[in-house]
Amino acid sequence: MTRVALLGATGSIGRQALEVVEANPVLELVAAASGSTPVDGLAPLTQVGGDLTELLERAQPDVVLNAVVGFAGLPATLWTLERGVTLALANKESLVAAGELALAARERGGGLLLPVDSEHSALFQCLEGRRTDELDSLVLTASGGPFRGWTRDRLADVTPEQALRHPTWKMGRKITVDSATLANKGLELIEAHFLFGLPYDRISVVIQPTSVVHGLARFRDGAALAHLGAPDMRVPISFALTYPDRAPTPVPPLELAGTTLEFEEPDLEAFPLLRLAREAGERGGSYPCVFNAANEAAVESFLAGRLSFLGVAGAVEHALAEADGAAARDLEELTVVDAAARRSVEVAA
Ligand code: MG
Repeated sequence: MTRVALLGATGSIGRQALEVVEANPVLELVAAASGSTPVDGLAPLTQVGGDLTELLERAQPDVVLNAVVGFAGLPATLWTLERGVTLALANKESLVAAGELALAARERGGGLLLPVDSEHSALFQCLEGRRTDELDSLVLTASGGPFRGWTRDRLADVTPEQALRHPTWKMGRKITVDSATLANKGLELIEAHFLFGLPYDRISVVIQPTSVVHGLARFRDGAALAHLGAPDMRVPISFALTYPDRAPTPVPPLELAGTTLEFEEPDLEAFPLLRLAREAGERGGSYPCVFNAANEAAVESFLAGRLSFLGVAGAVEHALAEADGAAARDLEELTVVDAAARRSVEVAA
């Protein structure tokens, strides 16, 4: 039996994870937590809000599935990596904001870090059993979101309702807006850098509108391995929870006849958040943390009607310009950086 703790149990990933756990007799849910929605009866141990590491301490899980949204997931990520407990990571923001701290904690803990983000799960699978020196580069795919092909001018009047309509993936509100601005792909670029230890100039992003190709690894001999599948999060969730096995899921095998595979360059002028994320990643230090915090605050303001769609990127650019980017030595210092970036968005909005 694998003892699973599920953090963020009532969100989109959380609900699909419950389905995966229920369908698999080797998985046992020992703890469940949410930010504010009640989770009574979902697992023997439950918690709503507060310090989730207290719940993990009591539950002693074999695997923690961290599906908390945003920077709030960071303490649980660090707790899990520090103790060598397997981390199934759907909370990409914690790796973006605290990449160095997380990798140092994994080094000390010696446990597994398994990405649940579909693109990173795909790349992890393409790279399994390969040495880093055999790798040439990685390609992250993006659907392009609901505004693919739109000019910057046309994006000026986008409403939250429009941004919340994603063409291929059904997800929570924050990540759906991030997909519409391409900030999500920016976060994923930084996530891939830390997960796979590759410099940014060897990780590229390409638009693949049907979301069938999830990732591609190019090797030094000219071969490229791609991961294909239906856009269904139950696949990467199941992969991470049952690794190194591949358990059956209700997702049907991929049908190739009638499947369209087209690729195009992302438009960095219309979607500057992808460019800003790459710059923040390349500058390093706490700039990725600033990018993440400013984006979280700006998305919240956009959803509340206080900021325009294009204003999200503007607010993030402003916060990055204001920050000094000095590296943080611990969670406490990072929390200060995070709070300052959020404030700078609120002042600007
Ligand atoms: Mg993803």
